[in-house]
Amino acid sequence: MIRLDAILDQVREYAPDADLGVVRKAWVYASKHHAGQRRKSGEPYFAHPLEVANILAGLRMDTDTIAVAILHDTVEDTPATLEEITDKFSPEIAKMVDGVTKLDKLDFRNPDEHQAENFRKLVFAMARDIRVILVKLADRVHNMRTLEAMRDEKRVRIAQETMDLYAPIANRLGIVTLKGELEDLSFKYLHPQVYAELNAQVAARAPYFDKYIERVQTQLMESLSPHMPEAEVSGRVKRLWSIWQKMQSKQLTFEEVHDLLAFRITVQNIAQCYGSLGVVHGLWAPQSERFKDYIAQPKANGYQSLHTTVVGPEAQRIEVQIRTDEMHSFGEIGIAAHWKYKEGHLALRPEEIEKYTKIRQLLQWAEDIEDSREFLDVLKVDLYADQVYVYTPRGDIRWFPGGATPLDFAYAIHTEVGHHCTGARVNGRMVKLNYKLRSGDTVEILTKPDQQPNKDWLKSAATSRALSKIRQYLRKEERDRSIGVGKSVLDQELRRFKSSLKAVTKQDGLRKALDAFGKRTAEELFAEIGYGRFSVEKVLPLYVGQDVLDAEKARQEQPEKEPTALDTITGIFRKIGRRSGSPVRIDGMDGMLTTFARCCRPLPGDHIVGFITRGKGVTVHRSDCKQALALPRERRLDVEWDVQQKIPHAAMLEIITVDRPMMLAELSKTVGKMNVNITRAEARTTREDRGFITLEVAVSDVNQLRSVMRGIERLQGVISVSRTANL
Ligand code: MN
Repeated sequence: MIRLDAILDQVREYAPDADLGVVRKAWVYASKHHAGQRRKSGEPYFAHPLEVANILAGLRMDTDTIAVAILHDTVEDTPATLEEITDKFSPEIAKMVDGVTKLDKLDFRNPDEHQAENFRKLVFAMARDIRVILVKLADRVHNMRTLEAMRDEKRVRIAQETMDLYAPIANRLGIVTLKGELEDLSFKYLHPQVYAELNAQVAARAPYFDKYIERVQTQLMESLSPHMPEAEVSGRVKRLWSIWQKMQSKQLTFEEVHDLLAFRITVQNIAQCYGSLGVVHGLWAPQSERFKDYIAQPKANGYQSLHTTVVGPEAQRIEVQIRTDEMHSFGEIGIAAHWKYKEGHLALRPEEIEKYTKIRQLLQWAEDIEDSREFLDVLKVDLYADQVYVYTPRGDIRWFPGGATPLDFAYAIHTEVGHHCTGARVNGRMVKLNYKLRSGDTVEILTKPDQQPNKDWLKSAATSRALSKIRQYLRKEERDRSIGVGKSVLDQELRRFKSSLKAVTKQDGLRKALDAFGKRTAEELFAEIGYGRFSVEKVLPLYVGQDVLDAEKARQEQPEKEPTALDTITGIFRKIGRRSGSPVRIDGMDGMLTTFARCCRPLPGDHIVGFITRGKGVTVHRSDCKQALALPRERRLDVEWDVQQKIPHAAMLEIITVDRPMMLAELSKTVGKMNVNITRAEARTTREDRGFITLEVAVSDVNQLRSVMRGIERLQGVISVSRTANL
């Protein structure tokens, strides 16, 4: 078991004036509580928290965090309590222990609601104190190192979780060493055979690699030291997981992977970085497409380095990374390289904390996502995505996942800016909402007050924040709409039985219906009706006697009498409340109100489309109607004519004639002969001696209307006949 002194020595090295008392106290407390406990492997349990503490000392963590590492399993596995830890140590330490304990209990692979919710809470805590996640990462590293002792099934589960979640988090925090170890260990358990094979292949070539590394090292040092005596060079074989990933993505065999070796040059300053690059390129031919300048353009996690791939000795491709010592220490331990200590405690300046806002920002977005499982999904997306950085018009840098669009930018500024975003100016040029942001772009968001999110936005946005905000908006909008529809449907039905929503609400506040269907609020009930999940016929018997309903049903089954023209016209412009009376079938929804749009007045035979309209149920338009085309697509419903229904429909004709007497009389005679009723007519004369006549006729469908139009066209003096919508 690792000794406490070894850990304390490590801490003293980077924090000479640290208060080691808290670490010693934690050791005493935890060793007492874990006494007698053993791990699956048989070794004393206490070895585990000590190893975790040791890993964290390697990341140069503050003494509170190291104490937390030693205490991290006490509350979960021993009689120790958070209260006790608060008293003996501090509320801060207790809070961190609590965070780690909760994270321990989660299974991210198939999270149920409860676990996902726990995770979400934990992420909050993380956003407040990122050290919790560092302890958890170290805990995971040690558990992965000792995973052998676990059952097969559990091993795979833990390894998958590590690969999916913890390795990306480590990467995001820039802790490359832990990330690499976590990936390789997960790889080992997830694909044991591939891993073993690859491991053997690398091992078989180890003697060759060793010699080769030495040769390149020597050559580099000889060329570098005259100019930069402090330069250091190291070489290594790449990690198995990254080799395997390359084989996978490029469909290569192990023999075909040519850049298995990576070299690192560390120098004193940035000028020397570029100087070394010149030296490297002077020795071996660079593959220019593989050059990356992460010094000028750091990665999202703050990583800086020059990466180049050259054709080295024996035509082997080798990668060379060049960086300063400072960049190197950040490159290895990431965020942890920035901890500043004052008497062993963290003392970060605001601008230093600012550097971590990218991860913090990501985590804080958690707050906005209501659905915990959704949150987990989007968090994973954000953790994996490559990052681009763009500038605000004021020159501030903002980071986004690759593929992000102006929508993501807009939502990052403010939810309202997002909701009303119409587009953006990128580097002074207008772009659409689905433009993919590129590093270095300057982005200015354009908004309009009447703009609102629609479903298509979900295809454009890439960040968790934007996606969740858009979904939230659409959900609310849909719900509001359904509540409106549900309300009118119910009211309409009640009115047919001499009651109304108002009357019912007055009597008993709808409680009968709410109780009967287990709804908490009237809005819930309306929404269900409006969504069509719930038919209004179920609610009616609560307010209308069953005998009355039966009588109505019987009446409806009688054949309808021929409606008069007046019935027809008034009936058509009134909302049609009865399903059986609607000439339109609505896909998947029963009992919805239908209204015919006055802008295009569809007739049976026309291609039609329905739109959910607040308070009016479904409004039916012709599918080529300009107004309909402008309506939000997510309100659209598939509708079709019910051919069984033979209800006369009002259609409007606009007729231009030469201005002559008796024109209107002749028109009505012609139409009347075709057994079509004219329900309204209006005539006026223009200055050019033309007559404008508008007729409203009641026809059964488009074909009948067409023959009416043909009949009118044949009349002497008629210049044109067209179908119109407005009187
Ligand atoms: Mn643990």
